[in-house]
Amino acid sequence: MTVHTASQAAYIVAGLLFILALAGLSRHETARVGNYFGIAGMVVALIATIAQAVSGEITGTSLALLIVAMAVGAGIGLRRAAVVEMTGMPELIALLHSFVGLAAVLVGWNGYLQVECDPAGAESRHLEALGTLGIHHAEVFIGVFIGAVTFTGSIVANLKLSARIKSAPLMLPGKNFLNLGAVVLFVAFTVWFVVSPALWLLIVVTVLALALGWHLVASIGGGDMPVVVSMLNSYSGWAAAASGFLLENDLLIITGALVGSSGAYLSYIMCKAMNRSFISVIAGGFGIEAGPSGDTDYGEHREITAEGAAELLADASKVIITPGYGMAVAQAQYGVAELTRKLRDKGVEVRFGIHPVAGRLPGHMNVLLAEAKVPYDIVLELDEINDDFADTDVVLVIGANDTVNPAAAEDPGSPIAGMPVLTVWEAENVIVFKRSMASGYAGVQNPLFFRENSAMLFGDAKDRVNDILSAL
Ligand code: NDP
Repeated sequence: MTVHTASQAAYIVAGLLFILALAGLSRHETARVGNYFGIAGMVVALIATIAQAVSGEITGTSLALLIVAMAVGAGIGLRRAAVVEMTGMPELIALLHSFVGLAAVLVGWNGYLQVECDPAGAESRHLEALGTLGIHHAEVFIGVFIGAVTFTGSIVANLKLSARIKSAPLMLPGKNFLNLGAVVLFVAFTVWFVVSPALWLLIVVTVLALALGWHLVASIGGGDMPVVVSMLNSYSGWAAAASGFLLENDLLIITGALVGSSGAYLSYIMCKAMNRSFISVIAGGFGIEAGPSGDTDYGEHREITAEGAAELLADASKVIITPGYGMAVAQAQYGVAELTRKLRDKGVEVRFGIHPVAGRLPGHMNVLLAEAKVPYDIVLELDEINDDFADTDVVLVIGANDTVNPAAAEDPGSPIAGMPVLTVWEAENVIVFKRSMASGYAGVQNPLFFRENSAMLFGDAKDRVNDILSAL
């Protein structure tokens, strides 16, 4: 068996391991095993790729470059993974997507230069003999386009998620026509490039796609960012698949297609959960006209102390906790788990209501609560718990804001209008844990804080939960 055949067999094994990884990651209980499958698949893929390179016509310099690139990549990857906070994961993921996009652009340009600058070279002769030169040109063009859109789109997503630029949507005049025009131009230029592969066309499409990626993500508002992250995940998959076609690497095609389709499906699920049109979000907020974030005067808010909150909890028989991003920032999940145990021991019914986009990652709250050993069966999804708030004595809103904002349900002019939210205000008492009256990620004021049955418990969520525990 040649090294090439062995590598092809290894690629199939790696592809299967990736499929098992995705299957495992779809449930909490199997997520850890899913990760192991993914790691195993990547190890097999790396070994097969290196073996293939080493057995080919690789020069000493190329081999040294390969080793250095892998060492640098692994070093940076290990360091980032070790220091990243859970709350910083989405911005790191966005940054990693941008690398996939950039790699696809470079692979595309390399594919073009290899053939066009060396018409008598091995690659050109190979394509000519197969009669697939036109297909090669299309692959170059499409790969560069998807890669460049992914590259700049992911950079904007990274900047928005890390709050280095504002999360509000950019509203250029005629933004929908700009996006649509760029796609129409891309299709026309692709046909042109296949017929006559001029360098200027490749330069134009690269610049066009870089601008489109930037504009697409800049046009999407803060509240819709979760969908953008999963959408860019999908784009990065398709960019990798496009590179796979160019490099004639079956594993890259399979893996790219897996990432591309699972990312697209995740975006679709999240759009459904947030009552957003899938097409509208992937088209850069097409048709979404965000209103002003509103300076409405909602009146005065009330405050409560930790002792007051403890008293309310001691008298309650039904409690629902709705955690959000602030619980993750404060790392309050252990105190929250302890509070849950204490209340349940006293015979209080305690349940959790989890919004699909609470926190900064799909499943963020579920992971934190599982880490703190909160039983799965009391952690409920939005549609499972939303009808029960009216029959609840106390709701603890721990570091959540946009996901419990009544404006989404009641104010059609709100930028988050239509997004399903946890209807916490229907409960008898609502205690909101946060440090100030600041708005949430979407930058929208929250009228919940001014309702008569709401009281603010100011301070770091972890400290306040601990204060309640002591008072109890
Ligand atoms: P929000 O981001 O709306 O609000 C979090 C609140 O937590 C803030 O108002 C903040 O108020 C408070 N907070 C921050 N730190 C602390 C702390 N140490 N102690 C107490 N409170 C704190 O949170 P939600 O979870 O309700 O909503 C998530 C938002 O993020 C949505 O808009 C969603 O679209 C978006 N998003 C979600 C992603 C996902 O995949 N889940 C990905 C990207 C974006 P203060 O500063 O006053 O303390």
